[in-house]
Amino acid sequence: MMTRSEDLFNRAKRVLPGGVNSPVRAYKSVGGCPRFIKKAEGTYVYDEEGKRYLDYIGSWGPMILGHNHPEIQQAVVEAAQKGLSFGTATEIEVKMGELLCSLVPCFDMVRMVNSGTEAVMSSIRAARGFTGRDKIIKFEGCYHGHFDALLVKAGSGVMTAGIPDSSGVPKGCAMDTLTAVYNDIDSVRKLFEENPGQIAALIIEPVAANMGVVLPREGFLKDLRDICTENGTLLIFDEVITGFRLGLTGAQGTYGVMPDLATFGKIIGGGMPVGCYGGKREIMEMIAPLGSVYQAGTLSGNPVAMAAGITELTILKDHPEVYRHLEKLGESFRSGVKEILKRHGREYQITGTGSLSCLFFTDRPVTNYEDAKTSDVSVFAEYFHYMLDHGIHLAPSQFEAIFFNNAMKQEDVDLTLDVMDSFFS
Ligand SMILES: *Cc1c(COP(=O)(O)O)cnc(C)c1O
Repeated sequence: MMTRSEDLFNRAKRVLPGGVNSPVRAYKSVGGCPRFIKKAEGTYVYDEEGKRYLDYIGSWGPMILGHNHPEIQQAVVEAAQKGLSFGTATEIEVKMGELLCSLVPCFDMVRMVNSGTEAVMSSIRAARGFTGRDKIIKFEGCYHGHFDALLVKAGSGVMTAGIPDSSGVPKGCAMDTLTAVYNDIDSVRKLFEENPGQIAALIIEPVAANMGVVLPREGFLKDLRDICTENGTLLIFDEVITGFRLGLTGAQGTYGVMPDLATFGKIIGGGMPVGCYGGKREIMEMIAPLGSVYQAGTLSGNPVAMAAGITELTILKDHPEVYRHLEKLGESFRSGVKEILKRHGREYQITGTGSLSCLFFTDRPVTNYEDAKTSDVSVFAEYFHYMLDHGIHLAPSQFEAIFFNNAMKQEDVDLTLDVMDSFFS
């Protein structure tokens, strides 16, 4: 007997490439049939058969408060009753702009867009327009969306699919993208020496979360800040995952390093398709209609999406205890995993900070992309399916994060640890 997910997957494969609308949802690297999810509530998702899973994907980040939060749902319904989109200026965009600029340390001004990809793409254009330079530096294993110039050594979905680059990206588009090694300041220095006066921007995930979770070494972000300042290069923090997850001020506040521009997505839309980029006034004043850097969007600042985002961010702002709770869950998970690994004599690496974690199936400490790639993805695949069979919904890739949400309780973490313990037995 076919399950409903299997049936749907067969239908999906006929009309959607790989049966999905984003490759990270496919089970390509772990095998099997993706669970089609019908509804979600709190910390659980329910598949088409009605089976319940404790969810550690959280829509890849936005569900930091848990699924279908009643206040966000209510805000969306109320906004929808007034109309879905006007294509004009609205008050709610002003409120969102004011809220973001009051919370994000580097934001004097912000532009709303519809995805993280769009945010990063536009921020790179702004940086090139501002500096009059073409080259950019990114890090191996960091993902910044699926647009041409940054689809180079790009982590997560790309890593899982085993495509180091994408086909269809003209050489010219990737030519100006230089790649450095995460946590290796010398690799960055070398690129600056080889390309003097030519680098518009250096972009980084301040905590890398698309090659598994890799933390920046002590002082690394500060060193990047200094090198960029010395060279007249803009420092861009891609906070599409870290923004409003590490805390209200993102990685820039947490690590005390001020970028020139920053990009956000995922959490700031509360589950709706939203992104934004912003930063110093003199850079953002380059953007059309003020300046010569063109960037636009029919649905940008959409009122329903803004309602969801503002509500989520306001709850986070008014409830600092959320971050303390998430921190506690994350810490207790990581220390629990460490104990389990020790008990079973495994040398695997558990990494993370706050509500982001990752278990790498490698005995090598993971500080960059090369280290991450030493993970045994076949053991990961076994582990993934064991967890899924026991009602625990993890991202179907070694190179994704485990996301905790505020609807989760300590007993959920304890249950997860019990299942992990039985897997390793
Ligand atoms: C998810 C992600 C993006 C892309 O965002 P989309 O909304 O999927 O386009 C960009 N940067 C980082 C760090 C991400 O995690």
